[in-house]
This record gives sequence, structure tokens and C-alpha cells, in this order.
Amino acid sequence: MVYEEPSPQGAPRLLSKTPTAVHILRARFLLIDPEHLAENAGVVVEGGRIQRILIGGAALRRAQADPRRPTEIDLGEAVLTPALIDAHAHLDLTALGGRLSGEKGFGAWVTALLEARSGCTREQLARGVREGARRLLATGTAVVGDIDACRVSPEVLARHPLEAVVYREALDVGEAQRRRSLLAELGQPLGEGVREGLSPHAPFTVGPELFGALGRIARDRNLPVAIHWSETEEEVRWLTRGEGPLAALLGDSPGRGGLELIEEAGLLGPGTALIHGNHPTPNEIERVAQAGATLVHCPGTHHFFGRSPAPLERYRAAGVSLALGTDSLASNTDLDMRREMALLRRAHPGFSPEEVWTMATVAGARALGRGEGILREGQWADLAAFATSGRDRRAILEELTAGSPQVLGTWPAGGGA
Ligand SMILES: [Zn+2]
Repeated sequence: MVYEEPSPQGAPRLLSKTPTAVHILRARFLLIDPEHLAENAGVVVEGGRIQRILIGGAALRRAQADPRRPTEIDLGEAVLTPALIDAHAHLDLTALGGRLSGEKGFGAWVTALLEARSGCTREQLARGVREGARRLLATGTAVVGDIDACRVSPEVLARHPLEAVVYREALDVGEAQRRRSLLAELGQPLGEGVREGLSPHAPFTVGPELFGALGRIARDRNLPVAIHWSETEEEVRWLTRGEGPLAALLGDSPGRGGLELIEEAGLLGPGTALIHGNHPTPNEIERVAQAGATLVHCPGTHHFFGRSPAPLERYRAAGVSLALGTDSLASNTDLDMRREMALLRRAHPGFSPEEVWTMATVAGARALGRGEGILREGQWADLAAFATSGRDRRAILEELTAGSPQVLGTWPAGGGA
């Protein structure tokens, strides 16, 4: 497969997706991880992985002398970094960009979303997935955790250079027929080309039987899991006490917290990404930490609904791994992890640039089971390059996490393996 879509800002790009191709990417700076910056450095990419890290002129010259004649891209006065990782997106909602508002609250937004989505053709949804994937690549993201509600993402992403975990969404709102057909479908693994994950939508939309069955599928096939959890006070009120506006829609409540239901289904573990988590009890934060699950925060969605700051400091204090997601254009104005980092820094000034960069790389990689999110020999060569005027690690990290620097290129698996 050859990726021929124009790269952002006319940047250098790699067209070869031959697994054996050898490339060198070099730049003035190499941000190895949040704590280490190298100067006059590069990486050798082979078979989609980082084969070697080169620091200094002598190492670069030796690599250039390789008899296999590696293709070289010199990015000049830039910083080459691990690519950004968008741990939570709904690319099939890209078609709804700019059509919804968060002003009337979450319930009204969901109703408008379902109506707008049902008016879209499969082709419109597929075009949206392609456009969403293009936007992510253009803004430095090489890997996405995408929720597939409409069953169009796998086919599109299997042919796209963006690396993806496609979480197949499931919800039954207690309807037995829907549950049976979902289980028949999800019992079969997804085809080639994308990594499969599972997304029981949320504890208030997935009945206990379906939850339990999805837990068994996830364990049997060792699938990464993404679950919307504790996004609104309304869902917490209905789940725990059967009260609030959801009572009229959903009927009898389980009378228990969402996290308890997730645990009961065997779905709380290190391979689980909990999305949002805006209204946790102290005890729930402890259990998320103990389970080693990831909490994915979506700053753009938070901003869209005008919510008060998420309790990220409490998760951090408990040692929970925090990742970032763009969510979708139905509740965000862009699909750009640079903007998510900048919004987060503004809303949570106590988070350092190092911590925010970790959220957008290391924690995302962990949530999606895609390596370590740092530049290390043997890791996937998921790389991005940004223009920078910084001259030391702190200044460069400041620009990356708060300044939305220009993207010079994004290379999922070194350009595609
Ligand atoms: Zn979501």
C-alpha cells in the first residue's frame, strides 16, 4: 500500500510502505521522552520500527554510509518526537462537524446527535472517517483509539496509514433482540488491517447480560476495552438511585454505581480505557488506580459543554494513568491533539509540560497497547516532527504542549509498515 495523500504544509513524506525499507529521519532536536532531549540526532527506521537512535554527527554519518542506501529526510531546525496518540475518538461522527451545540446540555445533545447521524448515508460517514483520519495525521497524531458505532471505520482505517485500535461499540438499552444480534456479530473477530477492541458504550446503556457477555469476549480474545464512564451527573444519579431525567427514558435503575457494573463484568483492568470519569467518588478513583486502568480525558469536549474542570488532580494523586482524546466533531471543534494539550494546560495549570506530553504520548500508547510512546530502539516508529523555536527541553516542551507548533510531518510506523 502506498500513501499518496498530500502531507500537511507540503512537508516531506515517505511513500514507501515496504516493510524492509530503511529510512533515516534527522532533525536539530530529538525528544526521546519527556525527560530527554538530544541535539543533532535522528532515528533509523526499518520495517516500521526504530532500529537505531543516532545522536551526534559521527553516528549520523555512519548510518548514512549503510550499504543499503537508506532514504534520508532532514527536518532541519525542528524537533522529532514520538507521534501524538489520540486515545479516544469517534471518527464516524466527523460528518456532523459544526452541526451540534452543547448549550442545552448533554441530554438534548444526545437526541440531536442520534437524529443527525441517522440522516447520514454510509458514504457520508465513511468520508467523515477518512477526513477525521486525515486531520489527525496532519496535526501530529499517528495512532487513534476509534469507537466504531456505525460499522464503517474498520474498512476505511484498514486502508489508511493512520494506526488504529477500532473499538467495536455495543449497547442494547436492555433490548433482548439487539443484544442477541450484537453478540452474534461481535463473536466474530474483525478482519485484517486494524487492531480490534471492544467498547461496551456505557454502564447506563449496556444491560447486565450484555455487559457480562462482552466481558467474556474481551477476556477470551484479549481485546483492549474502552467504556464511557461517569461523564454526567445524570447518569450517576440514575445508576445509583434511579433518579433524574434518565429515569423516564431508561426505567428501572440497577441501583449501583457504573464502576461496580464494569468490575462485575470483569472489564476493569490494565487493558481498559475509561472515558471521561468526570464524577467519580473517592473510592472509585482508588479502584481505577488499583486495577491499572487508564482514564481518558477529552479537554475539547469538556470545553464544548462548558463543564467545570475535571478532577484530574485527584486521579493523578491516586496514581491513575491519564491519557487524552479528541472525542468527535459532534462535541469538539477540531481533531487536533495539540489543541487538546493546550486546553488542558489552560484548565489545569498545575500539570507540567512533561506531564501533559506524557498524557498525549506515553499514556495513550499504554491505553491502546501500542508500545511505550517514547523513542526507543525496537519500538514502533510512530513519529512526528514539529517546527520549534525552543533551544532547550523545557522551552520545546512548553511550545509542544501549549503553543500548537506547526507540524512538519507525521509517520505512523515510520511511514507505514
Ligand atoms: Zn466518546
